[in-house]
Order: sequence, then C-alpha cells, then structure tokens
Amino acid sequence: MRHRRLFVLMVAMEECIFCKIRDKELPSAIIHEDEHCLVFKDRFPQAPVHLLLVPKKHIPTIADMEDGDEKTIGHLIKVAKELAVKQNLKGYKLQFNVGKDGGQVIFHVHMHLMGG
Ligand code: 5GP
Ligand code: ZN
Repeated sequence: MRHRRLFVLMVAMEECIFCKIRDKELPSAIIHEDEHCLVFKDRFPQAPVHLLLVPKKHIPTIADMEDGDEKTIGHLIKVAKELAVKQNLKGYKLQFNVGKDGGQVIFHVHMHLMGG
C-alpha cells in the first residue's frame, strides 16, 4: 500500500507541469527564483500582473501540507509582498485554489498574485 502510494506520487510528479517548469524542461517567464521557490508569469493572466509563486517541493495541494511546509508557504507570502513592491502594486490579491472543488487545476501548490 505504501509502495503504491509512493508510485502514484512519483507518476504525478513526473507529469507535473510546475515541476517541469522548475526543472527548466518547460519554458516560462521567470520573475524570481531562490532556494525554496520559483515565481513566473501566469500563461493565461487574469489581471495586468498575474504571477504564480511555486514552492520547489512538489506538494500537490495545500491540504497535503506536512509538518515544516508552513515555512515554505510562509516564504511564498514574503516573496509576494516583496515582488508587489517591485511591480509598484498598491494592492493585490493572494490566492490558493485548493482541490478540484476549490478550482485547482494544477496539482502542485501555487499561490496566485494578482494586481494592477
Ligand atoms: P489553478 O486553477 O490550479 O489554481 O491555477 C493554475 C494556473 O496555472 C492558471 O491560472 C493557469 O492559467 C496557469 N497555467 C496553466 N498552465 C500553465 C503553463 O504551462 N505555464 C504557465 N506559466 N501558467 C500556466
Ligand atoms: Zn510538481
């Protein structure tokens, strides 16, 4: 059972668009990169500034967070507020869609930063 779960996770990771973007196997307009996260422009922007802040660790959804992941997710918020200043945003929205019923389409945690 444990092995099956690991196998399913590995297959999911292999097919994960955001892991591929992280590994530079797929192109993206990267705005910021550090040890813990990658930030790139949303391909189908819903606001003048629409960025996706993605942890380098493959966590499928916020509901799958494990102990210690709160540091990484908190880091995304810190990076978002710094990027908002750089992008001259006076106000903005930070959004996580969680699970299929929460509107999540890509199952690698990401925070939307929308503004402008
Ligand atoms: P979700 O609905 O999962 O929270 O948001 C996924 C977001 O990823 C959507 O806003 C969508 O436009 C964006 N997206 C989907 N595919 C790609 C892609 O290949 N590259 C980039 N940069 N964004 C993508
Ligand atoms: Zn992934």
